[in-house]
Amino acid sequence: MSLIGKVAVVTGGGSGIGRAISLQLANDGAAVSVWDLNAESAEQTVAMIVDAGGKAIACAGDASAKADIAHAAAATRQAFGPISILVNNAGISSFTPFMDISEEMIDRIMAINIKGPMLCCQEIIPDMLKDGWGRIINISSSSAQTGAPMMCHYSASKGGVIAFTKSLAIELAAKGITVNNIPPGFIDTPMLRQSPVDMEKQIAASPMKRAGGSEDIATAAAFLASEQAGYITGQTLGVNGGRVMP
Ligand code: NAP
Repeated sequence: MSLIGKVAVVTGGGSGIGRAISLQLANDGAAVSVWDLNAESAEQTVAMIVDAGGKAIACAGDASAKADIAHAAAATRQAFGPISILVNNAGISSFTPFMDISEEMIDRIMAINIKGPMLCCQEIIPDMLKDGWGRIINISSSSAQTGAPMMCHYSASKGGVIAFTKSLAIELAAKGITVNNIPPGFIDTPMLRQSPVDMEKQIAASPMKRAGGSEDIATAAAFLASEQAGYITGQTLGVNGGRVMP
């Protein structure tokens, strides 16, 4: 599906799922602004896109900090023009029994996983309103659908992303802007590999008997970003190999 002429922002685009989404959107023709805390990994994603003949810039910064978001959005507009696609992908996870979760960790998870997407939306929606067209895709988590041990703070933040998606979708539905979320199942990324999740056990318990790849999320995101997905909003598109069937 063609995204030629569109300008996309992907937060956390320097690694895993965000990198795959950046590559897919660029492959479909969008100019992509890769936002990441890690400047070097964002530049690596950009190099991969440019090597493949696409258009991209890297913006280093914290996608949950208002000043960094404004700075990255300005750089994106200067390079490519108004932003039409926003993928709120940046996120952090943490595995801790509930009673041991510190206040600082609750604040950090909530800041990056739910406040960040809300602030990025507030920064970028004016571009979409002016154009009468926009696509917002929030990356949530299947842990918010099923619950997950040692992830109370994480799954709560991602449940917030799902609820936020629905409410914002209603506010923007008549303005040509769709808002959807993708809750990934187990996707083989640096985040998953660094976690204490017993992959063998999870794979054995899953209907497809395999973990997903970042590309599985990327193709779903590219579909939701497309013109053809214009009548889909407020939805939760599970990409999880059948692990969750709500
Ligand atoms: P990942 O490999 O850790 O990539 C996340 C990227 O986001 C990293 O480059 C990270 O930078 C960046 N990032 C973190 N905080 C940021 C911030 N405040 N501002 C800008 N960039 C930031 O993780 P992933 O597995 O691809 O996960 C991507 C999204 O999918 C996350 O929202 C995650 O919760 C969600 N998810 C993943 C899975 C899975 O199985 N992998 C399942 C469900 C949901 P640094 O490396 O510098 O921290």
